[in-house]
Amino acid sequence: MSDDSSVDGGRRAPGDGSPSPHFDLVVRGGTVLDPASGVRRRADIGVADGLVRAIDPDLPVGPTTDVVSASECLVVPGFVDAHTHVYWGGTPLGVDPDALAAESGVTTWIDTGSAGGGNLEGLVRHVIERSPLTIKAFVHLSYVGLVPVGLTETVFGELFDPRLGDERACLRAIEAFAPHVLGVKIRLGATTTGPNAPRALRSARAVADASGLPLMVHVADGPPPLEDALASLGRGDLLTHVFTPGTMGILDGAGRVRDDVWRARERGVLFDVGHGSLSFSFDVARRALEQGFAPDIISSDLHAFNVDGPVFDLPTTLTKFLALGVPLDDAIRLVTTAPGRLLGGARGGLALGGRADIAVVRLEQGSFTLGDGCGALLEHHERLTVVATVLAGKRLRFDPEARRQGKRKPERPVDGRLTPPGGAARGSPSGA
Ligand SMILES: [Zn+2]
Repeated sequence: MSDDSSVDGGRRAPGDGSPSPHFDLVVRGGTVLDPASGVRRRADIGVADGLVRAIDPDLPVGPTTDVVSASECLVVPGFVDAHTHVYWGGTPLGVDPDALAAESGVTTWIDTGSAGGGNLEGLVRHVIERSPLTIKAFVHLSYVGLVPVGLTETVFGELFDPRLGDERACLRAIEAFAPHVLGVKIRLGATTTGPNAPRALRSARAVADASGLPLMVHVADGPPPLEDALASLGRGDLLTHVFTPGTMGILDGAGRVRDDVWRARERGVLFDVGHGSLSFSFDVARRALEQGFAPDIISSDLHAFNVDGPVFDLPTTLTKFLALGVPLDDAIRLVTTAPGRLLGGARGGLALGGRADIAVVRLEQGSFTLGDGCGALLEHHERLTVVATVLAGKRLRFDPEARRQGKRKPERPVDGRLTPPGGAARGSPSGA
């Protein structure tokens, strides 16, 4: 973080007192929206040496400055996707974040439980350390992480065999790769823990306590019941798939947000969207929002089996919340500053002197069909589209072939009813 002396004097060049201002990159003519500072105003952003050096109108550019045009656009912090699966090649779920970042505006990717104690090193060595992106991990209690989730003939949950819930192995991996680790992950449900949920939950809690890290619990169709999951969560822990239609959902039989869910929020439990394939219901989300229960974090749960729909990417997930009535500025906060707190606030803002991770986005007008993964469709008149992504001061280039490879798309039918990102808006000639 810079001190105040670098804030004023809007044309200040990088390096004190330089007579000829020069930025490596300028984001020109957009509306800067930074939920971390509350700034929302027309300004350019000047970047040098990978850092934000100025936020002011009409910044000077030099002959070598990369000028990113942002007219009619919002300029926001690079997105933080708090629930993804990027252990590509190591798990069938994994997508390659390097191939998908440019078009999605996501500069910080949090992998939630793809790796466990037995294979975290692969995620670190082969994905995290080779990528220019910020990638962090929640480590699965299961020794094998999410290796079992794929196109196998039989469903074998990663904790069907309780011996895989190896606390010491999980803790060892967390300690060995501590700079890359944000927390502990466990998936509760009939197809993941099966009858071992109580024991697995105790073990996951024990590892989180021993490491001093938050616990993220995935909920779906039980057993166990939701109350078991909530009972093990405290301040800073996360419940993901908050709007699941499954039996561990947050609504009671009358469609009301359960009392124990409200109480969990009051004690500081964070509720994460984690859209996923089957884990997000428009109906559940709408009812919760109507009762004032907004998510704490909007995340995609992007993986190889939903990257071609219904999830596609984080901006599409965000668009769904706009369609459900969440104000744009709130939605932006929930994909930047809010998840950035998981990294100690080191990401998700546009502070002077901070790393220049920037997304240039616009609200495209048209007619778009959004799907929730449970078969429900929603039409909306606008969507959030990424115009440019800047990572540590450098513009990321779209590469369709890398994207095609990087998605590592499994053979599965694509739902042709949905509007994919970049797809033509029906009834709108240009999209504007
Ligand atoms: Zn997930």
